[in-house]
Amino acid sequence: MSIYWNERVKNLSPYVPGEQPRDRKFIKLNTNENPYPPSPKVMAAISNTIAAEKADTAGAKLRLYPDPACTDLREAIAARYHVKREQVFAGNGSDEVLAFAFAAFFNSNTVGSNAALPILFPDITYSFYPVYAGLWDVPFRTIPLAEDFSINIDDYKIPCGGVIFSNPNAPTGLALPLNSILSIADYQKNSNCVVIVDEAYIAFANTPGVESAVPHINDHPNLLTVHTLSKSASLAGLRVGFAIGNEELIEGLCRIRDSFNSYTLDRLALAGAAAAVSDASYYDEINGRVIATRDRVSVVLSVQGFDVIPSSANFIFIRFPNKTGSAAFAALREKGILVRHFNKERIADYLRVSIGTDAEMDSFLEACEEIGRS
Ligand code: PMP
Repeated sequence: MSIYWNERVKNLSPYVPGEQPRDRKFIKLNTNENPYPPSPKVMAAISNTIAAEKADTAGAKLRLYPDPACTDLREAIAARYHVKREQVFAGNGSDEVLAFAFAAFFNSNTVGSNAALPILFPDITYSFYPVYAGLWDVPFRTIPLAEDFSINIDDYKIPCGGVIFSNPNAPTGLALPLNSILSIADYQKNSNCVVIVDEAYIAFANTPGVESAVPHINDHPNLLTVHTLSKSASLAGLRVGFAIGNEELIEGLCRIRDSFNSYTLDRLALAGAAAAVSDASYYDEINGRVIATRDRVSVVLSVQGFDVIPSSANFIFIRFPNKTGSAAFAALREKGILVRHFNKERIADYLRVSIGTDAEMDSFLEACEEIGRS
């Protein structure tokens, strides 16, 4: 606590990101990065931007500000998802897009004369949501997931200030079918409440009925879908996320961005991201490998008596048969394997394990077996 902090800063409980170790080499299964490299076209696009700078080619100068409207990237996203450019917003990672969405669509306690209704999200979900709510002073109510960590959609069909959840959910990996999401959006449409679906992990979902809500944004003007290139496009280091939704929602996001920082994406990120979204076939192939590895590892662990929540994401949420979450986390770390442990009610005995390469996951399985025997 500092005497220089204002009341807002004093009251924040910031998000704690997963560890990015610098001193020791780990098998890194803690922040849901993709184990495979980005598309070669991404590397070429970034190199070309730098080469163009050296050759002083028009339109690619690092000396000049980037395009604040991210036009080329938004056009590439629009083409890939069969939407209009005006239905796409791009930002510096989906965390930024989510932060802007909270500011744009959820009322805070301090704005307006009536007390704002709370927004709703699950008690176990992406732990950044309560942080954004705290930052913008948005009242929220968490809705407990069922015992098996599933979402009961009727819980979200009540008067509220808005709804947000990730689908597939994090850190459980469980996903809701598309018709459930649309039924929540339908209900909330009547009271002009925005429903945000964070689809960070949707590319890894192969469960029947689980699909992206993007094709339904025209029928559901209150539905905003949020996406990231960090996981499915292997570009966590580039920091690019985007939202797809009705034009008015996108304009709301632009109004927040342009009251904050007009140039959230740099020229290299814009070039690399546009190349990534235009290379679906490369990413379908590597993400197919991640899915196959996830399913194989899930079966092995289940047979060994682990509790494995069925995952539609690029991570699994597991419980050791005979170890507490913190003991299992520490034992894995000792063996050079980094996973994520949330020391929170209901999930303290679970670990979230990102899916690595087959070789990495074999080392993980071996370590689990040894730890189980000790
Ligand atoms: N949503 C969810 C559910 C996530 O797990 C993450 C990754 N921590 C993000 C959004 C943010 O991703 P990024 O900012 O890297 O795009």
